[in-house]
Amino acid sequence: MNYREIPAIFIADALGLDFLNSVATPVDQPVDWIADGEGLLSWLEQAELVPAEAIRRVRSEASPAELDEVAAKARDLREWFRIFLYKRKGSPLAAKDLRELAPLNRVLERDEQHGEIVVDDAAGATGFVFRMRRRWPAAESLLMPIVEALARLVCDEDFTQVKACEGPACTLLFADHTRGHARRWCSMAICGNRAKVAAHRKRLREAGAG
Ligand SMILES: [Zn+2]
Repeated sequence: MNYREIPAIFIADALGLDFLNSVATPVDQPVDWIADGEGLLSWLEQAELVPAEAIRRVRSEASPAELDEVAAKARDLREWFRIFLYKRKGSPLAAKDLRELAPLNRVLERDEQHGEIVVDDAAGATGFVFRMRRRWPAAESLLMPIVEALARLVCDEDFTQVKACEGPACTLLFADHTRGHARRWCSMAICGNRAKVAAHRKRLREAGAG
């Protein structure tokens, strides 16, 4: 299935995990929303990680081949990080895990950000707020907000509550921020419902057999 036919999935409650979920099987065929350069731009726009104006500029300045190459790097990063995450999720991270995360720090070193005073546009607010702004010097800088999201994931999330959906064919990951840490599904609408239907069928079968 083509990623253009279906919006990307943002159910993880943590952007770094939404990035891992940029390849998934929402119905019956796998969809990779960052299968090519255009896909990466569209995913970044949907994730609100890159301002629309920067997307337009990068698209006009970089060749499609160059953008495809950045998308390939993003996919490599995604699958490398997925391995780290599957090894660690379910228990807290430890200081020794930093060694394995060194590639993220190497990319972050190249980031070009600066602070800026802007008018606070929150409802009813007066005054200014301090924001970080990123420069987008080349197509490869599109990787920066992704690497930042992964870095924030390891810094801000409790890995004990990083979970994979229990849907048998589902690959979606999420951070369980519910009060009792009882979240089991990517969404009630997709896998939660499927599980309910399956349990209902099983009960009917058992009732029929008994
Ligand atoms: Zn699911």
